[in-house]
This record gives sequence, C-alpha cells and structure tokens, in this order.
Amino acid sequence: KKRLLQTLKGKENVTLDGKRIQVYANIGNSRDLALVLSNDAGGIGLFRSEFLYLERDTFPTEEEQFVIYKQVAETMAGKKVIIRTLDIGADKQADYFGLAHEENPAMGLRAIRLCLTRPEIFKTQLRALFRAAAFGNLSVMYPMITSVAEMRKIQAVVQQVTEELTADGVPFMVPEQGIMIETPAAVMISDLLAKEAAFFSIGTNDLSQYTMAIDRQNPSLDDFFEPHSEAVLRMIQMTVENGHKEGIWVGICGELGADLDLTQTFLKMGVDELSVSPGRVLPLRQVIRQTDTRKL
Ligand code: PEP
Ligand code: MG
Repeated sequence: KKRLLQTLKGKENVTLDGKRIQVYANIGNSRDLALVLSNDAGGIGLFRSEFLYLERDTFPTEEEQFVIYKQVAETMAGKKVIIRTLDIGADKQADYFGLAHEENPAMGLRAIRLCLTRPEIFKTQLRALFRAAAFGNLSVMYPMITSVAEMRKIQAVVQQVTEELTADGVPFMVPEQGIMIETPAAVMISDLLAKEAAFFSIGTNDLSQYTMAIDRQNPSLDDFFEPHSEAVLRMIQMTVENGHKEGIWVGICGELGADLDLTQTFLKMGVDELSVSPGRVLPLRQVIRQTDTRKL
C-alpha cells in the first residue's frame, strides 16, 4: 500500500473528469518541512506560527522570526506558503505573555483578539512576515475572525507596518492576506469578508467546536460530537459559495479536510484547496484521482 502511494508522487491532484484541487500540508514546526517535501505537498496551507512563541520563555524577536519564515519560504522554492499569524490563548498558553486567567478561554482573548489588543506583538510578527515575503511565495492568514471591523483594524496595523518598513529602507513585500473561517459569525458574513481577503481557509476544528458548542478539548463530550455534522457541512458550503461569488479561492485547513469520506463532498462543493498533515497528502491524492464528480 505504501508503494502504491509512492507512485502518486509527482502526479496531479485531478479528478477523472478533470477537476483540479490543491493539496497542501499543515505544519506546526519548521522541523516538519522535510515531511512536506517528501510527501510531495503542493505548498503549505497552514503554518501554525505559535510554536515560535511556545517553545521558549521570551518573545521571539523580529529577526528570529524573519530567519525562520524566510527559510520556510526559500525551502518551498516558489510553492505557496501560508503562515497563520499568532493563535495563542485558549488551549495554547505561554506564561511570559502574562495573560489573565479566563473562565472560558476558548471564547476568550485568543488569536487575532490578542494581536489587536497587544499590537506590539502583532507588529513584530507582521514586520518579520513582510520582510520574509520578499524571498518567496508567502501569504498570511488571520485566525478567529468574527467581523469586518477586525479586518479593518488589521489593515490599519498593516498600513503602519508598511510605512515603518519603508522608512527603515529594508526590503519587504505585503503578502496576499487571507481569513480563517472558523467561527459561525465569519461563515454568516462570509459574503462581506470575501471583499476583505484574497482567500478563505476554513478551520473546521474550531468551526465544529463553536457550531456544535462542544469543547474540542473535552473527551467526555465525544458521544455528542458529530464528525460529519450537517450544520458544519452547510457552513462549509455557504463559505465556498460566498467566496466564489467574490472570486476568491476557498480551502479547508482543519482536520475535516483530511477525512477521506468527505473528499468527494468537498470536490462537489467546489472547495479549491485542502491542507492536511503531511502524511495525509498522498492518500488524499489517491482518492481525488479516483473520483468522477459527474457521478456524484
Ligand atoms: C482549526 O481550527 O480548524 C485550525 C486549523 O486551527 P487550529 O486547529 O490550530 O485551531
Ligand atoms: Mg483554529
């Protein structure tokens, strides 16, 4: 079986009736880069930048971040690399952030909320990302978006960072910017958010948690968790439709994207990209290549 998968390397992610879909990889560490390459992923669809902050006890500097983002962009040699800005808070905590204890951290000060509350942390990361974007095919995406206003606030920070980098005279590029769709609010206003972004990437892990109101960390709720929830599938469909109406591409970077029982459903919906852990890339390619969407 492993041999069979090996023969899929270098092949395209195309259905029997000629529909193409991008298959990218998720990574949570630059050490995973070798796996991305050996599994022949088309790019990196989700680079969880938290590890840069979690594996230490002081904030990573701009220079430290820049070196790593640049290395990833260069290693991928022109293939798309989508770096998610810091998603700390909730289940991912680092003491040196000095965050207050929260009763309900999943609904608390996490991800983009933290970045907009502590702009100095956000700006340092954006500076490093924009500088690294000058060295490869880099995109950024923002986690836990729930409103258009947040996107506007982000753009104000982006503007500041752009002005500062210009004044500093360092090479940089403002990369393509996408939105993670991982809250029901973002789904419901995806028609509006689509005007504010170059792409959508659906985070089904959080989207499932917030849609079904089931804590993703709580195993005692497993019996209530519906992995193929019709509610979540309809949300994915709605997001894809709204994205496409605005002419942007829509991918899935949550665990559901790797669920081979749903691959045909996603192809039928017109999902443009699936980003999965490196080991899932080739199995997914196999299913795609055996699918005929005319028969679905
Ligand atoms: C998600 O929520 O689906 C996602 C991809 O992000 P994370 O699992 O890191 O929250
Ligand atoms: Mg998430």
